[in-house]
Amino acid sequence: MKKIIIGENLVKSFGEGNEKYRVLDEVFVEINEGEFVAIMGPSGSGKSTLMFALSGMDDIDGGKVTFDGKDLSVFKENDLADIRRSKMGFVFQQPTMLKNLNILDNIILPSMRDNRKNVSEINEKARTLMKKVGIAELEKRDITQVSGGQLQRAGICRALMSNPKIIFGDEPTGALNSKSAQDIMDIFSDINSEGTAVMLVTHDAKIAARTERILFMCDGKVVSEMRLQKFYDTDIDDRIKKVTARLQEIGI
Ligand code: ADP
Ligand code: MG
Repeated sequence: MKKIIIGENLVKSFGEGNEKYRVLDEVFVEINEGEFVAIMGPSGSGKSTLMFALSGMDDIDGGKVTFDGKDLSVFKENDLADIRRSKMGFVFQQPTMLKNLNILDNIILPSMRDNRKNVSEINEKARTLMKKVGIAELEKRDITQVSGGQLQRAGICRALMSNPKIIFGDEPTGALNSKSAQDIMDIFSDINSEGTAVMLVTHDAKIAARTERILFMCDGKVVSEMRLQKFYDTDIDDRIKKVTARLQEIGI
């Protein structure tokens, strides 16, 4: 299986002198192309830091990240930003969008920076994605005139504009009610079934249970791992039970 990301011996510390502590403590992670992975763990265990390290968003103090066959440490910041823009998508708990632009314009904004692309194609692509995630009728709305779930869908459209190889989601359903959260997971499942790898940080066993592999982090280390099969809704209760049992077993 081809790997989209390999993180080897990742070390990252914060603080100085006696106060210095490792937030990533010799972490090894491999993500296959097209894989659907969740990261769980207590607050402060290093989940976001790991995601930032794997995406080259943040530098590391030790170890190596290989993305799509390339060692990320050889790239200058501009080239890294290019790789992120073209091959990675990011979705956060609250999408950061500009208040003075409507939903469609917010979705296309990052793509407009790439002057190799044609504006009408960009608009067409955005509209196709909006339709796919069920917000086609909202394109002219202000970002303050839509629900949290709808805004998150717009954030997902924005992340998908470049046809990324992987989507990173840092607690993407954390601010949503459970129905909206499951709807967002339906969208991630669809994206994943079309071949895009998805890596999500979540506290919620019901969310993690819909992925195919879960990494459990504690104090900067991956302390446990669980393999599930690709999602079929027939056995979701069973999957949630398994995840909950593992969380209890490792005490997180
Ligand atoms: P998680 O996402 O699992 O909640 P984080 O990766 O955000 O955890 O953070 C792990 C630890 O690193 C926390 O103790 C946090 O306070 C610390 N940390 C994260 N970013 C910084 C930073 N820029 N400066 C100092 N400490 C940081
Ligand atoms: Mg975090």
